[in-house]
Amino acid sequence: MTEDRRPLVSVRNLKKYFPVGQGPLDKLFGREALAVRAVDGVDFDLYPGETLGLAGESGSGKTTTGRLVLRLLEPTDGTILFDGQDITHLPERDLRPLRRRMQPIFQDPTASLNPRMTIGQAIAHGLRIHQLAADADDERRQVLDILAKVGLTPPEQFINKYPHQLSGGQRQRAVIARALVLRPDLVVADEPIAMADVSVRAVLLKLMRDLQKEFGLAYLFITHDLATAKYICDRIAVMYLGQIVEIGPLEQVYGNPRHPYTQALLAAVPVPDPDARRTQPLPKGEIPSPIHPPAGCRFHPRCPIAEEICRREPPPLHPVEGEPEHFVACHLR
Ligand code: SF4
Repeated sequence: MTEDRRPLVSVRNLKKYFPVGQGPLDKLFGREALAVRAVDGVDFDLYPGETLGLAGESGSGKTTTGRLVLRLLEPTDGTILFDGQDITHLPERDLRPLRRRMQPIFQDPTASLNPRMTIGQAIAHGLRIHQLAADADDERRQVLDILAKVGLTPPEQFINKYPHQLSGGQRQRAVIARALVLRPDLVVADEPIAMADVSVRAVLLKLMRDLQKEFGLAYLFITHDLATAKYICDRIAVMYLGQIVEIGPLEQVYGNPRHPYTQALLAAVPVPDPDARRTQPLPKGEIPSPIHPPAGCRFHPRCPIAEEICRREPPPLHPVEGEPEHFVACHLR
């Protein structure tokens, strides 16, 4: 379905290592500088108008991947193409015209909004920076229009409110409005509903889906919660210790999970039906240190079916039999 379209974002062998310093003794004995391998060889394509989920526990590298795609971080290695253009090391000056087209929505709307700006000023700010309004009347019309679209109605009331006068859900709607008024092609949404009240999460997700259809947006949707991802994603990539261990269309990854880690994550999703099977805990053990990731398959210390080869050789991503768009990195699957 996706092969005949050009990806909006194309990421290959993407890496981000954060140096953690080298003590004087390390230098004296010629020991290598240590680094946190937050993202360590990630490949994926994101197509116009689709939602690709990046899922995994904290420390899996999903947030760093999102920030690399937005070029808020400088990659250590690999390539990022945006709409066919190599932006991997593009200087800020040349990135500026592209910034309008790739917008972030972060987890905490309170931290994302300037407390001294009204919601109207915050939204208009982007329009001015990118010179998207013909005059003051046009700017006000666009701000009112986007406020109405995200459900902050009547918009004439919300345009003059400050962030502290809004509920958490309304603040996240304002952040969504500020991103979408710029008519981006890509939104990197990092746990966008995690801090919202449980009662408004489904409403926010539905809003994001409706706006995606209306604006033709692509979402890179970062979440630790596979139940949330199921509601909004077309495809999903499961990350573990800086790498993608399984990726494919939602119904295939959820219906036929091949990687033991994906299976464990799905088994840990709470089931609303009290009579249904109880949720399973995640596999034993913490995520190992990303400074010294395990040799071979990085999941082997926690994997219930690991074999000798798993301790020696890293498994490459390979297609699942009969599901050519579904890939898994496991020697035994
Ligand atoms: Fe488990 Fe081995 Fe597969 Fe890794 S490669 S997930 S250790 S079976």
